[in-house]
Amino acid sequence: MSLRFRVLGSGSGGNATLVEGGGARVLLDAGLGPRQLAERLVSAGVDPASLDAVLVSHEHGDHARGAAAFSAKWGVPLSGTRGTFEAAGFARAPLPAFEAIAPGETRTLRRLSVRAVAVPHDAASPLAFVLSAGASSLGHATDLGHLSRGLVEALRPCDALLVESNYDPAMLRDGPYPWSLKERILGPFGHLSNGDVGRLLEKGLSGVCRLVVLAHLSQKNNHPELALQAAEEALDRGGRRGVRVALAPPEGTGWIAVRAGGAAVGRREGQLRLF
Ligand SMILES: [Zn+2]
Ligand SMILES: [Zn+2]
Repeated sequence: MSLRFRVLGSGSGGNATLVEGGGARVLLDAGLGPRQLAERLVSAGVDPASLDAVLVSHEHGDHARGAAAFSAKWGVPLSGTRGTFEAAGFARAPLPAFEAIAPGETRTLRRLSVRAVAVPHDAASPLAFVLSAGASSLGHATDLGHLSRGLVEALRPCDALLVESNYDPAMLRDGPYPWSLKERILGPFGHLSNGDVGRLLEKGLSGVCRLVVLAHLSQKNNHPELALQAAEEALDRGGRRGVRVALAPPEGTGWIAVRAGGAAVGRREGQLRLF
């Protein structure tokens, strides 16, 4: 049973990842407008109405902006925590269905299992997701301030990870943001730095992980080269030279296959490593 994913958008301009496996298709986050989401799905060869669910990690606009309108237009059930439902104002939208999922809970859509994992972030009840089909699993974690034990344990058995590598601390400190926002991003409920991801890659991976996709890079406070370098150095320190690192650019990626005990990256992602 195959599992594959495709980033449709990454970063402050809007996040969304399409995951296909176990006969199901789900969208993780819908931070792009509904029309743009539909266009990017169609260019991936996917009919928007064929999705089984839109799972929203938390209420921030870059993750939830298009969720309600997309769900209503295409008749796709929306899912997330009760806290996200309230904070995002989903009650006001004419949704076809809302299915609440609690942190720690696992849902099965056809033969795709989706586990919700609580993450530390300044939102009502934010989540990361672990998706499994057959023996393959993908961990998907964006927007978190630090690596909580529960999250690291949930990600450890995954064959592939998509994780945010939001900022380089020096670029953030010297950058244009007001100090209050810098403090928020740096804080325990903000975002992961390149170094935080490095610690995860050095010490937190099991032997089965073969691919790490770095996502949600800040365009003002990070540079793709810095994020890649930090991740590759951490993998070297951890003796994990068999793990491939790719970047999710703002406009998304091609399809990425996840295999049990390893993952294959398409040609387009391989080329992304060069910039
Ligand atoms: Zn975000
Ligand atoms: Zn957020």
